[in-house]
Amino acid sequence: MRNIFSVIFAVLIIALMICTYIARRTQKPMGRTVALFEAAFIPPVLGNLLIISSVSRTVSFIGCYLFFLGFDLVMFALINFTMKYCKGVGKGQKPPKFIYALLVIDAVQLLLNPLFGHAFKLERIMVDGMDYYRFIPLIGQTFHRIMDYGIFGAVLLIFILAIKNTPRIYSEKYLIILLSLIGEGIWQTFYIMSRTPIDTSMLGFGVLGILFFYFSLYYRPMKLLDRMLSGLVSEISDAVFMFDASGSCIWANKNGYALVGNDTLKLDDITDKLKAMFGDSDSYVKSGSNQRVIGSGLDARYYTLEERRAIDNQKLSGTYLIVRDNTEEQQRLKREMYDATHDLMTGLYTREYLYQRIYETMSANPDTEYYIIYVDVKNFKVVNEIFGTKFGDDAIMYIANWIRKNVTAYCCYGRLAGDTFGVCMPKSQFNAEFLEDKLSHFTIKSELAEYGYHLLIHLGVYATDTDDTKDISVMFDRAHLALSNIRDEYNTHIAYYDNEIREKLLWNQEISSQVYNAISTDQLRPYLQPIADKSGRIVGAEALVRWIHPDKGFLSPISFIPVFEKNGMIVEVDKHMWRCACEILSRWQKENIDLFISVNISPKDFYFVDVVAEIKKLVEEYSLEPSKLRIEITETVMMNDAENRMKLLDEFRKSGFIVEMDDFGSGYSSLNMLKDMPVDVVKIDMKFLGKTSEKQKARTIVKNIINLTKELGIISLTEGVETQEQYEVLEQMGCNLFQGYYFAKPMPVSDFEDFYDKLADNRTK
Ligand code: C2E
Ligand code: CA
Ligand code: CA
Repeated sequence: MRNIFSVIFAVLIIALMICTYIARRTQKPMGRTVALFEAAFIPPVLGNLLIISSVSRTVSFIGCYLFFLGFDLVMFALINFTMKYCKGVGKGQKPPKFIYALLVIDAVQLLLNPLFGHAFKLERIMVDGMDYYRFIPLIGQTFHRIMDYGIFGAVLLIFILAIKNTPRIYSEKYLIILLSLIGEGIWQTFYIMSRTPIDTSMLGFGVLGILFFYFSLYYRPMKLLDRMLSGLVSEISDAVFMFDASGSCIWANKNGYALVGNDTLKLDDITDKLKAMFGDSDSYVKSGSNQRVIGSGLDARYYTLEERRAIDNQKLSGTYLIVRDNTEEQQRLKREMYDATHDLMTGLYTREYLYQRIYETMSANPDTEYYIIYVDVKNFKVVNEIFGTKFGDDAIMYIANWIRKNVTAYCCYGRLAGDTFGVCMPKSQFNAEFLEDKLSHFTIKSELAEYGYHLLIHLGVYATDTDDTKDISVMFDRAHLALSNIRDEYNTHIAYYDNEIREKLLWNQEISSQVYNAISTDQLRPYLQPIADKSGRIVGAEALVRWIHPDKGFLSPISFIPVFEKNGMIVEVDKHMWRCACEILSRWQKENIDLFISVNISPKDFYFVDVVAEIKKLVEEYSLEPSKLRIEITETVMMNDAENRMKLLDEFRKSGFIVEMDDFGSGYSSLNMLKDMPVDVVKIDMKFLGKTSEKQKARTIVKNIINLTKELGIISLTEGVETQEQYEVLEQMGCNLFQGYYFAKPMPVSDFEDFYDKLADNRTK
C-alpha cells in the first residue's frame, strides 16, 4: 500500500513538474501564475512521499515540514492564482496584505517547532508491517489549519462571486475549479479527521494541479463559441439554411424563415420552398451562376446564392446555403446607370450612351444597313426668345415624345444636345414620305402658344454600309452636314448625306488652308467689269475677285466666297481686294484715267474690322480721292443693328465715298426702306427679276424702282444687262448706269485697260 502510493506520488510529482515546465514556457498571460501554482503543489506531495516511503523519524520529520510549509506555499499560490483567474469579475480587489503576513508568521512558527515542539510531534505506528511516523497536531498546527481554511474559504467565496457575476457561458470555467477546490477541501478534511496514515488527498492535489493547468491555459469555452456563432448567424442580414447530409433542412435563421415567407413554416417544408424559388441546388452550384432574379419590373428581387459543404472525415456531413438579398444594391446600380445614361429632362439616352448603344446594335447586326438621323429644330433659339424657356422645354419634351412614338423597337434614339436629337434606324424601317408628311404639320400646342406653333424640324440622314467602321460621332457629323443640302427649307425636311457634301467639305477645308498663301502670291486678284453710262461710255468698273489656282486653275468667287463668308476669312480677301483697287486707282490717277472702282464689302467684314477706318486709311495711303473708290454693301448689312450700320454708311458718305446698295431687291428690303437708306447708288440685279415669262412684271418693278430712285435723288445702276434690248429699255426708263455682259465680262486689269483704251480711241475718232 505504502509502495503503491509512493509510486503514485512520484508520478504525480513528475506530472506537476511537467505542468510547471510547460506553463512556464507558454507565452500565455496566465503562464507564470499557473507555473507557480503547479510548482507549489510539489513540496506537499514530495513531503508526503517522504513520510510514507521512509521508516526514519528524521526523514518523516523533513517530510512533515515540507508538507506543512509547502501548504503555505500552496495557499500563497492559490491566492495569487485566484486573483488572476478571477480578474475582471467581482470587485477585483487585491488580497489584503495581512494574509501574506499571516502566511509568513505561520511558516516561521512551523519552523520554530523543533525548538518549542508547539506545532506537532511525531508518533511511531506500524503501517504495512513497517515503522511509520505519523504527526500529532498541536496548537501551532491548529493555527496553521485555521489560517489555511480561512484563506481557502475566502478563495471559494471569490469563485462563487465570480460565477455569480459572469455570463453563464463563462461560469463553467469557474464552476469546475470551484467544485474541484471544494472536493479537494473535503478530501483533505477527511484525511485530517480520519487520521488515516496515508494522505490520499495528495492525489487530489495532483488532479487539482492538472485541472488548473488545463482550465487556465488550454480551456476554450466551446459553448461560448457555439452561442456566439449561432447568435451571429441568427442576426446576420443574409438568409442562412443548414441541411444535413440527406438534404433536409435542420436549421434556418430568422431571415431564412422570412425569405421563404413564413415564420411558422416547418423546417421540413423549407427545402421544397427553396427549390421552388431558386431551382435545384445543382443549378446554382454547378452552373456557376449564383444570381437569381425573382419577379420582374419594379417588383423584381435579386438574390445571390452561395452553397458551402461541410466535409467531415472526407464525407459530406451537411451543407449550408446563404442567400443574400441584393435587390437594393441592384436597384441602386440600375438607378445610377440610368442617371448616367439618360437625359434628365426627356428621359432619352444621352449622346455618349446613344453612341454606345448604336455601336452595340450595329456590332450585333453586322448585315443590317442603318440610317443615322440628325434631328434639328430650326430657329429653336427664336422659339425660346419669343415664347420663353418654359415653352422651349415643352417643345423639347414634345419632340422627344414624338420620336419615341414614331420609331420602332429596332431603333435607338437619344438627345444629342439642347435642340438636336439622334436616331439610328434600320433602313427597312425608314419611311421618308411618312416623315415628310408628319414634319410638314409639326405643330405644338401649349398654353403659351394657344393656336399652336409650327416647329420646323429637319432630318439630316447618313446611310451606313454593312462594312462601315466609322465612329458613330463621325456618322452623326455627316448626318448633320446633310442638312446643308436642304434648299427649300419649308417644303423639304429630310436631306441625305452624299459624296457631293463630302467633297464640298474637303474642298472647303482645302481652300481655307490656302487663303493666306493665295493672297501673298497674288493668286487672288481682281477682275474688272466695266460700268457704262447712258451713252455707253465707260465710267468705272466693279472689282470682282478671281482665284487663279496653281492646281485647280481659274476659280469663280461662287466656289470660295460663301465658304469664306462662313468662316470669316472673307475679311482677308476683301482687305486684299480693297488694296488692289487702290493700287489700280493710284496708277490710273497718274495716267489720267478718270474712272472709279466699286469694291464689295461683305456683311461679315463689319464683325472683324473697322471697315470705315480701314478703307479711309488705304485711300490716304494711296492719296486717292475717296469718290473714286465706291463702296458696295448689300442690304443684309442692315439686317443686324441697322441703326449703327446707318451711321457707318453716313460716315463713309461724309468722308466723300460713294455708297452703293448692291443686289437691291434680292432680299428683304422694301421700296419703302430706300428713303431711309444713306446710299448714293442702288444696284438693281436683273437676275432677281425673274424669268422671261414674267418679263412684263419685271419691267414694271424695275421701272418703279428707277422712278423712285429718281425722286429720292439716288442714282440707279442696273447690273446683269446682257442684251442691247435690255439696255435700250432700261435707258428709256431713265436708268443712269449699266453693267453686264452686254458691255463686257469681268476681265483681268490689263485687259480692262486695253478695252478702255480701245473704246476711248473709237470715241475720239
Ligand atoms: P455681285 O457683287 O453681285 O457681282 C456681280 C456678279 O454678276 C459677278 O459675278 C459678275 O460676273 C456677274 N455678272 C455681271 N454681268 C452679268 C451678266 O450680264 N449676266 C450674268 N449672268 N452675270 C453677270 P462674280 O464675279 O462671279 O461674283 C459673284 C459674287 O461674288 C458677287 O456678286 C459678289 O457678291 C461676290 N464677290 C465677288 N468678288 C468679291 C469680293 O471681292 N468681295 C466680296 N465680298 N464679294 C465678292
Ligand atoms: Ca457687287
Ligand atoms: Ca450685285
